[in-house]
Amino acid sequence: MAAASATPRDCTPGTPLITVEHVRKTYETRDGPVAAIAAASFDVIAGSFVSLLGPSGCGKSTLLLMLAGLEQATAGRLAIGGEPVTAPRRDIGIVFQDATLLPWKSALDNVLFPIKILKRPIADYRARGAELLDLVGLTGFHDKKPAQLSGGMRQRVAICRALIHDPDILLMDEPFSALDAITRDQMNLLLTELLEKLKKTVVFVTHSIREAAFLSDRVLVMGSRPSTITLDATVPLARPRSFAVEGSPAFNDLCARLRRSIEAAHAAEPPPPVPARPALALREQFHV
Ligand code: ADP
Repeated sequence: MAAASATPRDCTPGTPLITVEHVRKTYETRDGPVAAIAAASFDVIAGSFVSLLGPSGCGKSTLLLMLAGLEQATAGRLAIGGEPVTAPRRDIGIVFQDATLLPWKSALDNVLFPIKILKRPIADYRARGAELLDLVGLTGFHDKKPAQLSGGMRQRVAICRALIHDPDILLMDEPFSALDAITRDQMNLLLTELLEKLKKTVVFVTHSIREAAFLSDRVLVMGSRPSTITLDATVPLARPRSFAVEGSPAFNDLCARLRRSIEAAHAAEPPPPVPARPALALREQFHV
């Protein structure tokens, strides 16, 4: 069975595990170049939780995809454990907004799916998969198909799937933003409790100020596109955390600081376009 690591394996806690240096990203499209990121530089210390915060379209997912080796930087350098990221890596787990579970497989078989892709013996990981599902509160649901699970439950399965091969790094791209507000709160608490036990290095993309403040050790605010990191804020809240921290002056001061930084960075942006009014049907146009 793959053992849960109490500390990241190939790195010493307190040292930079992820390094991003002068990274720029421009997408070449049929309509011309789209400059997504002008310049990003930051380190992520092993075992820490760092959020990328900013409104939609500022380049958060682009940065995460480059860390995952799924997009290439136009310039600059991304490295994990000192090695340049040039292709998808096996020491990373990824969770996206959509759980994208295989509908015909059970929760446990979905969790075990990456093991099949990695061509490792499934039997060696079955107990670990069950243990992870229990850790995220899905005892009794191992055999259920995705259609029998709620949105929050499906996302818990996706988190277990990202962790099944015991990666050092977890990359999460707005994993809870499609969930209702109450479920999202529950998932935030669940994630923070899970990471107390598993101690991964996490880069988390969100556009929620409170979510970033609650979960993170550091929050990096991204400015308007083509973006830079406009604020690198340390979260002054002890762990383990419960929702009680949200009533503290430190939490609310941090949220206010993050909000001001976002507002300052995005003040010059034009307002979002007013959605075009849908064409009226002939009957409605002529009131017949
Ligand atoms: P965010 O995650 O902050 O919402 P993204 O990283 O998804 O932002 O996108 C940043 C910018 O890059 C946006 O203007 C988006 O339209 C553009 N973009 C993202 N992916 C592509 C792509 N594959 N091709 C062209 N442009 C892209």
